[in-house]
Amino acid sequence: MSNRVVEGRMVTPERLAELVEGDRPMEAEAIEDAEMDCPECGSNVLSVGYMPSVTEFVTAYKCQECSWSDTDR
Ligand SMILES: [Zn+2]
Repeated sequence: MSNRVVEGRMVTPERLAELVEGDRPMEAEAIEDAEMDCPECGSNVLSVGYMPSVTEFVTAYKCQECSWSDTDR
């Protein structure tokens, strides 16, 4: 089960990538713990790898509690 609670809602890997990217990815890997604290609120940060297009692979980082997010672009 790789669904996780983010900002109070259960999200799939695809939905988590969509929250960060703004568009639904072609593919997303399992959600993992990023082993870092949110720079905004200090809560746990999750990471998810996804493909926004066939030629690109991005890792997104998203706080579980607030709206902070980032990518490795
Ligand atoms: Zn946060």
